Amino acid sequence: MQEKTQVNKIIYLDAAATYQKSDAVIQKMADFLHNDYANAGRGVCERAVKVDDMIAQARRDVAKFIGATDRQVVFVNGTTDAMNMIAQMLKQKNVRTVAVSDLDHHSARLPVENIGAMVVVCPLDDKYNIDVENIPNADVLLITAMSNVIGVPQDVRAIISNAKKQNPDVITVVDAAQYVVHNQIDVTEWGCDFLCWSGHKIGADTGVGVMFIKNPDDFNPVEFGGGMVLRVDENSSVWNTAPDKFEAGTLPLTQIIGLPVAIDALKKNRPDHNLIKYMYAELSKIDGVRIITQPDAAMVSFVVDGMHALDFGALVGVRGLCVRVGNMCASWICKKLGIDGCVRISIGGYNTMADAQAAIQIIKDVIK
Ligand code: PLP
Repeated sequence: MQEKTQVNKIIYLDAAATYQKSDAVIQKMADFLHNDYANAGRGVCERAVKVDDMIAQARRDVAKFIGATDRQVVFVNGTTDAMNMIAQMLKQKNVRTVAVSDLDHHSARLPVENIGAMVVVCPLDDKYNIDVENIPNADVLLITAMSNVIGVPQDVRAIISNAKKQNPDVITVVDAAQYVVHNQIDVTEWGCDFLCWSGHKIGADTGVGVMFIKNPDDFNPVEFGGGMVLRVDENSSVWNTAPDKFEAGTLPLTQIIGLPVAIDALKKNRPDHNLIKYMYAELSKIDGVRIITQPDAAMVSFVVDGMHALDFGALVGVRGLCVRVGNMCASWICKKLGIDGCVRISIGGYNTMADAQAAIQIIKDVIK
């Protein structure tokens, strides 16, 4: 990646939007496409059986990565897909109240806001973290484990444990799309009912994501098609057992095969937060830059006085710096912060101090 950025003269500091892919992931997917490609769960020929084994192994690897069993791991297209499926499962349960927070991404909150339940909002503390001591009583609690604007890991275990004191039957749903990049997840320790994340945010390809379901037998499928049904009778159908019953249609095979390679790479080489600390310190010296994140956050977000974030993004963009600008699909936290949008710098394990220094220089050139 470093070699690539230098050759192309691009400083890519937008991993939170999507992570660059390592050669190992690309190679693994190319090998699969060249040598082993066939559908999974459909055939009995040697190739098809081998693909079944590869998918089963990938599922075991993912399960191990988050502290789950493989029956609890459902392959989906991404966080958005998972959240929409979860919302439909909750609708089937006729839940009456859903607690959300202003840290939520549109992908997580809009699906659960649209199932006809009453929405309550968890208060945030003065540093914009979920106020662990004041979790509202609700049937469902949506927890954004790390906001894609604020970049601070939330105390998911304490939040869930306190929510259960209010309602022992609360169904907890964790959006781990950003958290998974920076911190180890243990769904067993957290005790959450659902958790999801997208493969592309950790260096796998787009089109694959993970939905963890603690008690898969307690929920019915919300998508229907091939692969999820055991028997079709005249007037009724019998679903397969989990996880198959949640995986209608052909899976994103190539992306799933690449996912464990991305997980391995991430475990060995998480983003180096010293780069963020360095950029935070340098940005705080620039007149006109107002940083909205904490110094120890996993990303640095800021606004530039007198300049629209989109203009800033374009100006640094033509100088070769890729950062995210706008409302980050997280309108609620932007509103809370009193801003329309901001600039966000985020890093992958492939970024270096040289990238951070070059980015600061470009930003200084733009804000003269
Ligand atoms: N949740 C959070 C916190 C995110 O940052 C994102 C993407 O930026 C999503 C959900 C949605 O992920 P995807 O677009 O991969 O479905």
